[in-house]
Amino acid sequence: MGSDLQINRPAFAAVDIDTIEVTLDDHLARCRKVVAGASTERPVTWQSLMQSQAEAHNALHLFWSPISHLNAVMNTEALRDVYNRCLPRLSAYWTDLGQNRALHDATLALQESPEFASLSDAQRREVENDLREFELGGVALDDADKQRFGEIAQDLSRLTTEFSDNVLDATNAWEKLIGDVQELDGLPTSAIEAARQRAAGKSMQGWLLNLEFPVYHAVMTFANNRALREELYTAYVTRASATGPHGSRWDNGAGMNSILQRRAEKAALLGRSSYAELSMARKMVENPAQVIDFLDGLAEQAIPVAQSEFDAICRFAESDLGLAANDVAAWDVPWVSDKLKKRDHDLSDDDLKPYFPASRAIPGLFAVCGQLFGLDIEAEEGIDVYHPDVTYYAITDRQGQLRGGFYLDPYAREHKRGGAWMDVCTTRQRLGEAVQLPVAYLVCNLTPPVGDAPALLTHQEVTTLFHEFGHGLHHMLTRMDTAGVSGINGVEWDAIELPSQFLENWCWERESLDLIAGHVETGEALPDELLEKLRGARTFQAAMQLVRQLEFALFDMHLHLDSTVERAADIQATLDAVRARVAVVPTPDFNRFQNGFSHIFAGGYAAGYFSYKWAEVLSADAFSRFEEEGIMNADTGREFLTEILEVGGSRDAMSSFVAFRGREPVIDALLRHSGLA
Ligand code: ZN
Repeated sequence: MGSDLQINRPAFAAVDIDTIEVTLDDHLARCRKVVAGASTERPVTWQSLMQSQAEAHNALHLFWSPISHLNAVMNTEALRDVYNRCLPRLSAYWTDLGQNRALHDATLALQESPEFASLSDAQRREVENDLREFELGGVALDDADKQRFGEIAQDLSRLTTEFSDNVLDATNAWEKLIGDVQELDGLPTSAIEAARQRAAGKSMQGWLLNLEFPVYHAVMTFANNRALREELYTAYVTRASATGPHGSRWDNGAGMNSILQRRAEKAALLGRSSYAELSMARKMVENPAQVIDFLDGLAEQAIPVAQSEFDAICRFAESDLGLAANDVAAWDVPWVSDKLKKRDHDLSDDDLKPYFPASRAIPGLFAVCGQLFGLDIEAEEGIDVYHPDVTYYAITDRQGQLRGGFYLDPYAREHKRGGAWMDVCTTRQRLGEAVQLPVAYLVCNLTPPVGDAPALLTHQEVTTLFHEFGHGLHHMLTRMDTAGVSGINGVEWDAIELPSQFLENWCWERESLDLIAGHVETGEALPDELLEKLRGARTFQAAMQLVRQLEFALFDMHLHLDSTVERAADIQATLDAVRARVAVVPTPDFNRFQNGFSHIFAGGYAAGYFSYKWAEVLSADAFSRFEEEGIMNADTGREFLTEILEVGGSRDAMSSFVAFRGREPVIDALLRHSGLA
């Protein structure tokens, strides 16, 4: 509406592999020039120091973000080569920036200048964050240590990218052609048809399976063929390891050790006792001991319940499925669980799918958020998207003001990284007279449509969609005009999962399900009986899921507490020790789950996986206000919008939470939702 708002979308079609490197060099040269000018100009002002850097870095990001995104979702060998050649230059740039003494001194001068008091809270917080980042970037190190610090950054950038590439390649390399459809007995018709079309698409006869998540999940949950389940399980949990189906071709083992050692060395250079300790600098929690206490406390409550849940699986497998109770293997657990859920709750994962066609669930998600936060979310035609599955949407608020936009890339496909995530395309910020609006990439790996039939989603997939959209709203609904605290920027890492896990709650309530669910053929609402069953089954095996999350979180913390410069913690022994304490499902010796644990080895969750549970205390407690005041209460929604989503990182997460909830968080709602109350 206001002419000063602008959307800057990438031109994907114009990405030219041959000119990426030279254009990146141009951008980096320009950024260095701006930084050099900004750090010497006196007197130091917001405009001369912060604004000029923000605009230069925004231009760099606008150039780089589509390249980085395409590398993740449309990976090709040529793009990957160029991308990997660019990474060291970017790493060097950011290292130099963090260690730039003149720039640091100018930032300090701004903090001590008369202008500082007249800056907004958001601006002041950004200056303070920047000063912290200089410390974490090694600005105080001597020249030799600075150089070593830079080498570590280069190594980590390369090693974590190799980790991701290995997982992607190992996932793509495995497939299995089934010649006799009897072998797929138990699988939903749609999964069988998808396998047939996958084979046909590669000019093969039969049914083709691969390790994309929807395929893996369907086989593990539904295939009556135990040998097939074991084969897929084995391939999946040995990806990117020396015991994988392709030998050590994509083995992440050595790289993981190097990553842990480099992180420990980085922490040591900055005077921290471990990388876990260092990681706390950007988090709500104070120290690793507080994290371990929190996780141990949850484990103590959850383990006995999880153990009895697993015992029930074993007893049922023996009494009803002809498997000896002591012979229930990891590849039997999802299959037995689905049948047990059918017996106890008269519900299978497959019963709900007809009610969740993507064509209903996606607009339903937008309708729920529209009512809660006063938004209109509409697809825009004629936008340059990089794949036919992708749609671009614009978000407008009820005052008619454009707030941002996003690319939704919903379905699994080859050469696309697994998992689901939200990534920043552009950040809301002031650029001269104009305000650039935020744009997000929302990526899932949902079950794709088969032929002309609509994509039918599992309830879990719908939940994932809501989760990522929660991250997206945090990014896109911000009102902050200064980049460093806009959207998710500057938010403590262990509060990042608050809006995402919060939004998942609307997948379980009648008022919202009426907007999300509708039978694929009749449009009929989710029947009361099915909703009762869904809600009744919500805490089915919830303690088992909880201890699994605790296993990942404790493993992550101990790895990053125990690794040193000289020697990485023994990864397998650390995992085994954690499992001995908290796991209830036996893990086979060949399992190399850790070799594909991208969250901590390639993503941002190193010594931070606990953030999911930490933030779930906040998200469950925030949601409990809606349980008290009405699930679709627009007034409560507006307060969540203004106190949490719009403020981004402009104040600490605890202040935002208290402003919304009227008190500090309590753990009761999380325990209740996990069936532990
Ligand atoms: Zn998340």
